[in-house]
Amino acid sequence: MSAMLSVRDLAKTYAPGKSQPAAVAGVSLEIAEGNFHTLLGPSGCGKTTTLRCIAGLERPDFGTISIGGETVSDAKRGIHVPTHKRSIGMVFQSYAIWPHLDVLGNVAFPLLVCRNRPPRSVIRSRVGETLALVGMEGFERRPATDLSGGQQQRVALARALVREPKLLLLDEPLSNLDAKLRERMRDELRELVSRVGVTTLYVTHDQTEALAMSDRIAVMAAGRIVQEDAPRPIYLSPADPFVASFLGAANIIPARLARNAHGVELPDGACLPLDLPPGLASQQPGRPVRLIFRPEDTRLDRARPQRGVSLVGRVERSSFLGSRVEYRIRVFDTILRAYTDPSEVIPEGTPVWLTIAQRRALVFPEDSSS
Ligand code: ADP
Ligand code: MG
Repeated sequence: MSAMLSVRDLAKTYAPGKSQPAAVAGVSLEIAEGNFHTLLGPSGCGKTTTLRCIAGLERPDFGTISIGGETVSDAKRGIHVPTHKRSIGMVFQSYAIWPHLDVLGNVAFPLLVCRNRPPRSVIRSRVGETLALVGMEGFERRPATDLSGGQQQRVALARALVREPKLLLLDEPLSNLDAKLRERMRDELRELVSRVGVTTLYVTHDQTEALAMSDRIAVMAAGRIVQEDAPRPIYLSPADPFVASFLGAANIIPARLARNAHGVELPDGACLPLDLPPGLASQQPGRPVRLIFRPEDTRLDRARPQRGVSLVGRVERSSFLGSRVEYRIRVFDTILRAYTDPSEVIPEGTPVWLTIAQRRALVFPEDSSS
């Protein structure tokens, strides 16, 4: 099946000639029809710029973009199809609902400005159907200023979907909502998009949103995609320490390749047996590496456990969070994080042994990004 969205070698610099680095520095991306694809990365990594290039709101310096098989942007050939002629719907972080219009005026707008403007009766029924789709049937005459945060979001979504675009672009649409509503709208949005079946590119800096909603996630850093995969493999097999730390919490400790090539030597000299990635297994013993493991892949004991490789430390802080207890444990010269179930809270100051779940630990070369 051919891709609904295909982006090749996209690059965009806002101030050419200045020392400012490129906002997007060579992004390639494909989304299969009907898929929900997420760009995940920290603020400033180029997510919005990528989306705006796809929407035609920015002119790329380099690369090509095609939507539904049609080339809408090709920097080298000077092709730049204007936004209103691209088969896209877009929801911005701010929603950009027009306060001087009612719901009908807002949702009908894309139909009023499109090339083949449909007759008034068709517009009315199309808006009605789309409002029903987002659960806002009968809200046509409601002034935009009388909408709750959740309702504004649905109106923005209805406006993005009213022309039945091939591609839906969503830029952090949940970030202005409070935590409870955000969770509800996340599920609602995902369910709606599945029901409509529209191919979606979603942008967020929130790893939980990305994991919960996406068919595939592209993790971005400094204008590039550093890893792209389904949520599970991204979380369980991050490509580098940056991805490991960005998707959830990660403990990082310095270590060395063990002499027997079957694991790593920890700072206290203990050997942690591990399956090393192929690139590292053949390297010199003693080579510095970074050992990474997540707080949920640990066990805490008050006495030295019989089995496994344990690091001895001291509880510096414990935080009871209801569903779990989070610990900060001083081990060597660093603080490691560990979670336990909430049935027991180990008091601060207590000496503990931290056992690493070996099968979930990861090893990276020392010079990999973080
Ligand atoms: P994100 O959406 O991931 O937070 P952006 O795409 O908004 O990132 O920004 C990427 C980089 O481009 C940032 O360094 C940002 O400061 C810069 N940038 C974004 N928009 C503009 C603009 N209109 N003019 C100049 N620089 C911009
Ligand atoms: Mg942004």
